[in-house]
Amino acid sequence: MTKHILSKSTFMYGCQCPKRLYLHKFKPELCNPEDEGQQAIFAAGTNVGLIARDLFPGGEDASPTDTYSYQKSVEKTKQLIEGGATVIYEAAFQFDAVLCALDILVKKKNRWYAYEVKGSTSVKPQYIQDASLQYYVITNSGLKLEDISIVYLNNEYERVGDLDIVQLFNIDSIHDQVLEQQSFVQEKIAELKSMLNKKKEPTTDIGPHCSDPYDCNFSEHCWQDFPRENNIFSLAYGPGWKLYNDGFKHLDEIPEDYSLSSRPALQLKHYRNGETLINKVAIREFLGEFQYPLYFFDFETIMPSVPEFDHSRPYQQLPFQFSLHIKRSEDAELEHFAFLGDGINDPRETLINEMIKLLGKKGSIVGWNASFEKTCINGLIANYPKYKKQLESINERWVDLMKPFQSRWYYHPNFAGSASIKNVLPVMVPELSYQDLDIQEGGTASLVYSQLKSQTLEVQAVERKQLLEYCKLDTLAMVRIWEELNDL
Ligand code: SF4
Repeated sequence: MTKHILSKSTFMYGCQCPKRLYLHKFKPELCNPEDEGQQAIFAAGTNVGLIARDLFPGGEDASPTDTYSYQKSVEKTKQLIEGGATVIYEAAFQFDAVLCALDILVKKKNRWYAYEVKGSTSVKPQYIQDASLQYYVITNSGLKLEDISIVYLNNEYERVGDLDIVQLFNIDSIHDQVLEQQSFVQEKIAELKSMLNKKKEPTTDIGPHCSDPYDCNFSEHCWQDFPRENNIFSLAYGPGWKLYNDGFKHLDEIPEDYSLSSRPALQLKHYRNGETLINKVAIREFLGEFQYPLYFFDFETIMPSVPEFDHSRPYQQLPFQFSLHIKRSEDAELEHFAFLGDGINDPRETLINEMIKLLGKKGSIVGWNASFEKTCINGLIANYPKYKKQLESINERWVDLMKPFQSRWYYHPNFAGSASIKNVLPVMVPELSYQDLDIQEGGTASLVYSQLKSQTLEVQAVERKQLLEYCKLDTLAMVRIWEELNDL
């Protein structure tokens, strides 16, 4: 069998942007360096796919032994079908030099049903597009499909005891949508093959398609001439693409009379005049709400796609760590406390007890974007109702230190339109920095914690220390920013 020209992935690249497909085929060396976070998402998706096989147990696996053996996989699938197999995992098909593999192929009452597994909690438009290609290739290669469905995670399923595979997944037929897409698929395949045959790089410009529906892995190449700092996308509330289409890239290029809505207009004004906006009256009033003792508090969370613990749902935010700085009175020394789960067991009940013990019964709890912490606590209340009263009273004591920055009572040009603590801290407290830490943002903390149990004891000890340092800086940063606001 001759090697394929397009696969399901490369077809999807071509649908997103023909240049992405061209670069993937002919200039793969221009691809962005591999991203650890993306790899982890990919590994999580593979894990969901393997678990979903249990919906149709006892199948034959037609997976290729390596990425160069897909043609063997097509042959194996053909043999399995002819040999009477009724469930085939990674069934591979090829038609007109287009190859695709399907997660699960099932024969029921002499009819064939296709199932594609996705690690998300909804059926996204791009899933219809890639399933349409699968349907096109499978049916044109000679296998009639009775139906084609997306298998995806049911975020209303709460695990209690062993994983209930049937409850964990939703299965939606997309047969009708896929049939509607068949002529599009045929035309798109012809268009992409013709582009590849000509071996001429498409002149496609950058655009919203660079991150929709997926982040393109050639962005560093295509965006290399775009200004890194103070570009039009640093303006808040999204006027970027309109500005780009009007011919601007850098903030300096935007004419004085260009019409912008109030938030980006304010940001641009302060970028130009370099002045800091400070509304002392509003800040004083806000700080007046704070009641001692002050508890500067921050959670770190994980969101496992497949629930690992009882009383958790797919992608539920599960706090595994907190940092707490306490200032008991104006003159009191700052105290620090921390909690970090063991990376193996469900951390939540111990974390709840530590929180209740340390946060006391009165005083303001200071957070940054405190609605996130409140939502996490509401999740804990739902899963651990016996702590409802204490946790609800904790949730009544929050003050959100992000508010003065979000409300533009304090705005510095170097905030670049953002009220994130990562932008505010270097301006307000330049001597404190995340740059010196091994873990510098929440996504990495989450990834490190999720992988902790598979590390050696030595690595675990190092990474636990890194997690504690990172979370501690989050609350120390809040203390210092609060002090700076007070000094105003
Ligand atoms: S970065 Fe954008 S323009 Fe470049 S290949 Fe990717 S999607 Fe296409």
